[in-house]
Amino acid sequence: MTLETAISEPKSLLVRWARTCNRYFRRSADATENGGHDVLEPSPWGTQLAEQRSSVTKTYDAIVIGTGQAGPFLAQRLAGAGMKVAIIERKLFGGTCVNTGCIPTKTMVASAYAVHMVRRAGDFGVVNNGPVSVDMKLVKSRKDAVSGQSRTGVESWLRGMTNCTVYQGHGRFESSKELSVGSERLTADRIFINVGGRAVLPQMPGIEGVPYLTNSSIMDVDFLPRHLIVMGGGYIGLEFAQMYRRFGSDVTIIGRASHLARDEDEDVSTAIREILEHEGIQVRLNATCIGFSRRGEKILADVDCASGDREISGSHLLLAVGRRPNTDDLGLTNAGVAVDKRGYIVVDDQLRTSVPGIWALGDCNGKGAFTHTAFNDAEIVGANLLDNDSRKVSDRITAYALYLDPPLGRAGLTEEEVRKSGRRALIGRRPMTKVGRAVEKGETQGFMKIMVDAQTREILGAAILGTGGDEAIHSILDVMYARAPYTVIQRAMHIHPTVSELIPTMLGELQPLSDGAGAPQ
Ligand SMILES: Cc1cc2nc3c(=O)[nH]c(=O)nc-3n(C[C@H](O)[C@H](O)[C@H](O)COP(=O)(O)OP(=O)(O)OC[C@H]3O[C@@H](n4cnc5c(N)ncnc54)[C@H](O)[C@@H]3O)c2cc1C
Repeated sequence: MTLETAISEPKSLLVRWARTCNRYFRRSADATENGGHDVLEPSPWGTQLAEQRSSVTKTYDAIVIGTGQAGPFLAQRLAGAGMKVAIIERKLFGGTCVNTGCIPTKTMVASAYAVHMVRRAGDFGVVNNGPVSVDMKLVKSRKDAVSGQSRTGVESWLRGMTNCTVYQGHGRFESSKELSVGSERLTADRIFINVGGRAVLPQMPGIEGVPYLTNSSIMDVDFLPRHLIVMGGGYIGLEFAQMYRRFGSDVTIIGRASHLARDEDEDVSTAIREILEHEGIQVRLNATCIGFSRRGEKILADVDCASGDREISGSHLLLAVGRRPNTDDLGLTNAGVAVDKRGYIVVDDQLRTSVPGIWALGDCNGKGAFTHTAFNDAEIVGANLLDNDSRKVSDRITAYALYLDPPLGRAGLTEEEVRKSGRRALIGRRPMTKVGRAVEKGETQGFMKIMVDAQTREILGAAILGTGGDEAIHSILDVMYARAPYTVIQRAMHIHPTVSELIPTMLGELQPLSDGAGAPQ
C-alpha cells in the first residue's frame, strides 16, 4: 500500500503499522479511550518521550526531510517504534505524487478518457448528437479536489501522529547531525532524506525568451491551450500530450530520441506512437538541435530534424525533458554526503549514504523514479532498522505503468535487455485484437508480450500495452517475485472475460527468442 492509497483509509493504515511495530511497544489497556492512539511505554531507543530542549537545538531520535512518498511512512514506523521523530516539509504535504504528479495527472487522464468515450459513443450504439465540449475549469477543479484531499490527508495524518513533530520550512544540513529549518536548529543521530525532485529546465537556445509550463505550473492551467508543444517523449510528456489532445488542443510532441518512451522496446514504442498519431497528435523525433523564439503570441520551436517542417508553431510549451533531484540546496557538503555527477545522493543497497546515520530515500537517490519505488525504499529502511530484516533495493523487480489510454504495464526486463543478456529465452506475444475482453470493450489497440528463461522457466520480463495492462501485469509480477516457473500461471484457472486470462494462452505459444523470432502478429 502506498501513501497515495493509504491516505484514503488512515485508520486501517495505523492498525497495520501498529501490528508491524507491535514488538516495539505495548499497547496500553486504555488505548481505545485515548481516541485509538497507541500509548507508548518508555522507548527502547533510550530517549525520553518528553521533548529534550537545549537553548538553541532540539534533539530527536530521527529527522525526516520531506513528506513525499517515503518520509511519512518511515516517520510513522520510527515513531511507532518509540522514537522521537521530526519531519520537515518546505512546501506541499505529500510531495510530487500528491500535488503535481501521479494523483492530479491520473485524475485528469480520467477526465480525458471520459471525453474520449463520449466522442466514441456511436461505436457503442449510444446516440449523442450534441456537441461535445470540455470545461477546463471543471476539469481543474475536479483535479484540485482529489489532489487537495490527499494533501490535507497527509498533513493531518502527520500532525496527529504520536511522537512526531512537523516543521514547515526548508531543511538544510549544518553538519552531519544538525539541520536548520528557518531559525530552528534540530539534531538527531539518524537523518532520512526524502527530498524528491523537480522538472529539468533544459539549456536550449531561446528558452529563456519564451513562456513555458512544467508538470508543476501546468497544474494551474484552467483553459484549453490552442496548440500545446510538448518537449519530451518520455512518460510524463506522453500522458500530458494525450490528455490535452483529448481535451481538444492540437498537440505536437518533440523528442530528441529516435523513438518515444525510449527505454521501451521498439515494438512497444512504435505501437505507442501509432496510438497517439491515430488521435491526431503530431510526433517529431530525432530533434537534436532545438531552439525557441517568440512571434507575437506564438511560440516557435526550431526543430532541425531529419524530416518534416523545420519550424513548429504553438500557443503553449510544456517542458517534460526529465527530472533532477532536490539536492542542490540541502547543504549536503556540510554533512559530507556524496552525490553523483547528476546530483543524486549515492546510496548502498540498504539506502545508506556515504555518511553513517544518514539515509536517502525516493527519487533523490536515483534508484527509482516512481511512487512505488519511493515507498519501497521506506519499507527497506524500516525493515533493516526495526525488523532485523535485511531487505535490499536489489531485491526488487522493475515495474511501472505508463498511463496512456490504453496503458502500458511493464515488469522486469525488456526484450532488448533479454537479448543482450545472451541467455536462451522464449517469447510469447498476443495482439489485443485477440483478447476477448478488449474486443468487447472496443479497445483493441496494443499487444502483450512475455519473455521467459528457456532453462529455468522463470519469467524474465513482460509488457502489456492494452486495456487493463496496468492491472493485468501484476499477475506476472507476483509470479516473478515468487521465482516460480511460468507454468504456474498456465495451470491457474483465470476469470473470464479478462485480459489476464489470455496470459496462459500466450505462454502456451512461446517461441525461441532468436533474431526475428516472435515478431508482432
Ligand atoms: C507528472 C508526473 C506524473 C507522475 N506519475 C506517476 C505515476 O503515475 N506513478 C508513479 O509511480 N510515479 C509517478 N510520478 C513520479 C512520482 O511522483 C515520484 O516518483 C514520487 O513522488 C517521488 O516521491 P519522493 O518521496 O521521492 O519525493 P517527492 O514526492 O517529490 O517529495 C519530496 C518532498 O520533499 C520536500 N522537500 C524538498 N526539499 C526539501 C527541503 N530542503 N526541506 C524540506 N522539504 C523539502 C518537497 O517539498 C516534497 O514535498 C510522476 C511524476 C510526475 C512529475
